[in-house]
Amino acid sequence: MSDKIQLLPDNIANQIAAGEVIQRPASAVKELLENAVDAGATEIKLIVADAGKSLIQVIDNGSGMSETDARMSFERHATSKINNIDDLFRIRTMGFRGEALASIAAVAQVELKTRKTEDETGTLIEIENSVVKNQEMIAFPKGTSIAMKNVFFNVPARRNFLKSNPVEMRHIVDEFIRVAMAFPEIFFSLTANGQEIFHLEKGTLKQRIVHLLGASYNAKLVTVQEKTDYLTIYGFAGKPDTAKKTRGDQYFFVNNRFIRSAYLNHAVMSAYQAMIPADSFPMYVLFIDLDPAQIDINVHPTKQEIKFEDEKIIYAFVQAAVKHALAQFSIMPTLNFDLDPGIQKLDAVEKPFTEEKKTNAEASSLYNTFTQKNQAHFIDSKSELKHWKDFYPEPKQQSGFKSLLAAHTEPVSDKLEYEQTVTANRSLQGSGDQKLQLLEDVPMLQLHNTYIVASTNTGYILIHQQSAHERILYERYIIAAKGKPIPIQRSLFPLTVPLAAADAALLQELLPDLAVLGYEIALFGKDTFVIHGTPADVETGNEKTAIEQMLEQFKHFNSEVKFSRREKLIRSLSWQHAVKPGRSLSQQEMKTLGEELFATAQPNITPSGNPTYIAFKKDYLERMFGK
Ligand code: ADP
Ligand code: MG
Repeated sequence: MSDKIQLLPDNIANQIAAGEVIQRPASAVKELLENAVDAGATEIKLIVADAGKSLIQVIDNGSGMSETDARMSFERHATSKINNIDDLFRIRTMGFRGEALASIAAVAQVELKTRKTEDETGTLIEIENSVVKNQEMIAFPKGTSIAMKNVFFNVPARRNFLKSNPVEMRHIVDEFIRVAMAFPEIFFSLTANGQEIFHLEKGTLKQRIVHLLGASYNAKLVTVQEKTDYLTIYGFAGKPDTAKKTRGDQYFFVNNRFIRSAYLNHAVMSAYQAMIPADSFPMYVLFIDLDPAQIDINVHPTKQEIKFEDEKIIYAFVQAAVKHALAQFSIMPTLNFDLDPGIQKLDAVEKPFTEEKKTNAEASSLYNTFTQKNQAHFIDSKSELKHWKDFYPEPKQQSGFKSLLAAHTEPVSDKLEYEQTVTANRSLQGSGDQKLQLLEDVPMLQLHNTYIVASTNTGYILIHQQSAHERILYERYIIAAKGKPIPIQRSLFPLTVPLAAADAALLQELLPDLAVLGYEIALFGKDTFVIHGTPADVETGNEKTAIEQMLEQFKHFNSEVKFSRREKLIRSLSWQHAVKPGRSLSQQEMKTLGEELFATAQPNITPSGNPTYIAFKKDYLERMFGK
């Protein structure tokens, strides 16, 4: 009589288990889409009604199921994706636990229609509360359709806990995007309440990203692509000026599975250091592919966390790959490949000479950099490939990722490493090469009233006068904004500036920030301002134009990016006050520009990420002349 334990009836046990897998409509969406992908479909349609609460249907043109398999698929732990224990370490499919369909059938009314290509007839199964209600042979096109109706109809407590339709729909769209992003070679569509929200034709990853995240990214993506024996990373990172105030468009996929990882996110963020404002978030879509045995897959199916065998290697690799990609975009073309030595020792660079390595290397962006962009004139045939190894001082015999690891993680203790990796990456200059220094007392040369040729300790650089000045001003304004105000020159005869109503409203909003940056401006009657003072380095007589141009530029930034108002103002002002091409500079002006540029924290790029100079190394020059 004292015994209290009893077995739960099957349907209750199933519902509890199902709750783990199917927490909300979006979880079913994820499972059904992944099943369709696993079935090799090239077209997948998702249809939902009532934010998935009344209907979630996925129709695919994949392998389909035999009659027996269709029946079996709803059994708990029934899967076609694992046969033996070793398979567990080779998982390439999205699912493998055989729980999803069983869970879905436990908490909803399900209608499965399926046909294998080689079968003449298809199968219809209707199942509810884990009980098969109907099974018959039907005519059906090749593939599978699974409709899940009235989720949690039999578990009112859970149904009542579902959020409002907009919230549940947002979750569904998120899951849809994550799957569709990872498989651009598959057509996807999403129809909600009869309206097609997404229609994604097959295409490249870039096209898919732009379709999913918006056309504003179109010309703003930098290719990330690196390969070692151990892992591959590819995808896209947004140019610095696409960084947003909200952490939205950040995607990591490991073996095509979307994951969340604060650790890897940190690796990407550190690669952007000093290129974007501190409180903004760069866009990225990155795919890491590695041997499944290197990942602990024994996490819960709905969890998006992942455990790598060696997280540090992945961190260093992700960081290096993104830095490299950004550097290519921002300081290219440059003959001086000033990146971390770690990157230069990736396999693709170090060992390009076996056939296999050569194939790897040729796929690598490093290879393309050297063969196409910069070195095209003197390395244009494969027979000359051996030369490019010489560009690196004393290549080591380590394997690619070991030396990558060494470069990033060996010298520091575990605890400090996180922070130090970040500090070490402040500058794209890298630590391995000599620090670039301008030679004093060597005259500079201005070309086309735009470029400045300046000698350095390692060769020479070609400075773009406007871009360099932009960087200098930007950092000066940043410092000013932090409390060291810009000196103001007061005008004896204050200028009045009438503005259009919209501009007037904008300027009024900016006045406090402008004051910090050296502009003393006050409202003077309706839509008219009076300029009492301007920064000491603004040429007098230009104040009115300066204000108008600044407003124009601000509006331009306003539509482009989501920086803070002050950040946008600072960027506008640095752009606007920078010397423009066409302006002839004196020896003294060039010298000051050069010195001030190299005194900045990030001399090699403008605030928006364009190069400020291109470096040419002496030994490259000698090589070009065959010396
Ligand atoms: P898992 O995906 O973990 O194997 P599921 O419960 O999601 O488990 O699916 C069970 C099995 O049903 C799968 O292993 C697969 O064989 C089959 N299956 C499910 N969905 C489809 C589909 N859309 N097309 C073909 N087969 C499917
Ligand atoms: Mg599955």
